[in-house]
Amino acid sequence: MAEETEGQKSNLREIVYTGVGVSPGIAIGTAYVHNQGVISVQKYRIESDDVEKEQERVVLAAEKTARQLKILRAKAEKMPGDSGEELIYLLDAYSHMLRSSRLVRGAIKRIAIEKINAESAVQAEISSLVEAFEMMDDAYLSARLDDIKNVGSRIVRNLGAKTVEPFANLPDNTILFANELAPADTAMLDPEKVRGFATLAGSTLGHTALLARSLGLPAAVSVSNLLDVVDSGDKVIIDGTYGTVIISPTPATLKKYENYRQDFLDWRESLKGLRDLEAITQDDVKINLKGNIDLPSEIRVLSESGAEGVGLMRTEYMFMNRSSLPREEEQYKAIREVIRVMGNKPVTIRTLDVGGDKPSDLINSGSGSALGMRGIRCSLKWQDLFEEQLSAIYRASYYGNVKVLFPMISSVSEVIEAIEVKDRVVERLRSEGIKLPEKLPEIGIMIEVPSAAICADAMAKHVDFFSIGTNDLTQYTLALDRSDSRLSHLFNPMHPAVIKLIHMTAEAGKRHNKPVSICGEIAANNYYTELLVGLGVTELSMPAINVPTVKERIRSINYSHAVDFADYILSLDTLDDVLKAFEEKNRL
Ligand code: PEP
Ligand code: MG
Repeated sequence: MAEETEGQKSNLREIVYTGVGVSPGIAIGTAYVHNQGVISVQKYRIESDDVEKEQERVVLAAEKTARQLKILRAKAEKMPGDSGEELIYLLDAYSHMLRSSRLVRGAIKRIAIEKINAESAVQAEISSLVEAFEMMDDAYLSARLDDIKNVGSRIVRNLGAKTVEPFANLPDNTILFANELAPADTAMLDPEKVRGFATLAGSTLGHTALLARSLGLPAAVSVSNLLDVVDSGDKVIIDGTYGTVIISPTPATLKKYENYRQDFLDWRESLKGLRDLEAITQDDVKINLKGNIDLPSEIRVLSESGAEGVGLMRTEYMFMNRSSLPREEEQYKAIREVIRVMGNKPVTIRTLDVGGDKPSDLINSGSGSALGMRGIRCSLKWQDLFEEQLSAIYRASYYGNVKVLFPMISSVSEVIEAIEVKDRVVERLRSEGIKLPEKLPEIGIMIEVPSAAICADAMAKHVDFFSIGTNDLTQYTLALDRSDSRLSHLFNPMHPAVIKLIHMTAEAGKRHNKPVSICGEIAANNYYTELLVGLGVTELSMPAINVPTVKERIRSINYSHAVDFADYILSLDTLDDVLKAFEEKNRL
């Protein structure tokens, strides 16, 4: 629900929305409302002599679009049963739209009158049609808006237009507002310009939220009615801790949040004193504290956080926002740079984990289902790609202390097969005389699918370490889609089933003398540190920003008390009981 009070500009009212805070901190800046579904294109003026040529381009692009739609329709007709019916209906609507096209006619007229290039004429026509449709209060017509955008975008693409990166030229102090941001969009945000973001959709554990935390961008997601009143250019505030979004704040509110922002920055600064201290409990048990990075560019911040290495480098972002796959040389250079910055500290590189809510346009991971093609399944299916990535990692490993981590493992045979591919790569590199370290990188697996935790003893025989991904482990154990904001109230890694699986994994690690890390989001929350340590986890890996607070917590606890607390938590039956136990503990 939005609240209103008298705003700073005479004709504006302060409006406050509350969503879910997913990345802490205060951002104050100017709103930029991202218009999704419309491709951004370059606009330029043309000479009178070129008008006909540009108009011809529009006609040809529309004809090409019509041909593509026909081919798609033929494919849809061949789909089994009546599964293609919906699609055929939609494609017919698109074709109809093209034939009687005000879109094409309008764009041709604009080229003649406004003397602009074909791409921007089509784009301007889409925007004006969308605007006209939006004004008609008609549910059927508003449902057609997406169709218009879709057909228009196809024509723009068929013009061979060089599309503009959607967030390329944003002004300083931008706060982004959008229906939804894909992880690939978020990875493109420049923290120098974008101060934070707010979205209508999204959840705490979606990859977009994880990226926001890694980039240190205050963010609120799942904010109902967010886009009803905000316009690009409005003054706005985001409180990423509490999920508050304030549009057109009053001067008093602005002052209050400027103070909060300063307090937050001062608090972060005060934690720097912990940087060179060890993460060791009161009774001298050492916990390895490492950092997660999603983009190679984050390595500098991480190296200054006091982390003892990289516990998780997500490589999938190297495969996003691009029109061709990164080749081995490019991957090698990016990984080598991370290794160089970390010196002799360990760097754990996870092989590609695309699929699910991290799609890449370059790899056909299918429906985007969390239960479909994802992680190691893609690597084992497209082994050329896997070999290329492993080759880049192993070549770079000569220069530092590298560990290799396989994601989304669900069976021992996947581990064996992945290791076979790795062995093949190492053999080839050796035969080519490529320098490799004397001791090859350790191999670990993500424990993030319940079957992997249940079979942890068998898995331990093949690998050197485990890294528990509590984000996915929670998703798959509780059958709750981690990106679905409607399920956020149920999604909790403190569910007894998830805690038991963490404990089983830690115990298996102990039996086989293999270190066990947690690199899911729970590792970053110092509220849970004592329990995780007590469950037997030997390493925690998290975004750089959280390293100091977790270190502070480790230094304040006693390992033997942590084990007792974990034993007590393991005896509880329900999530409510677990949460109550935490509340009681914190009251003491
Ligand atoms: C996890 O699942 O907890 C994890 C660390 O992997 P990701 O969030 O990248 O899926
Ligand atoms: Mg995962």
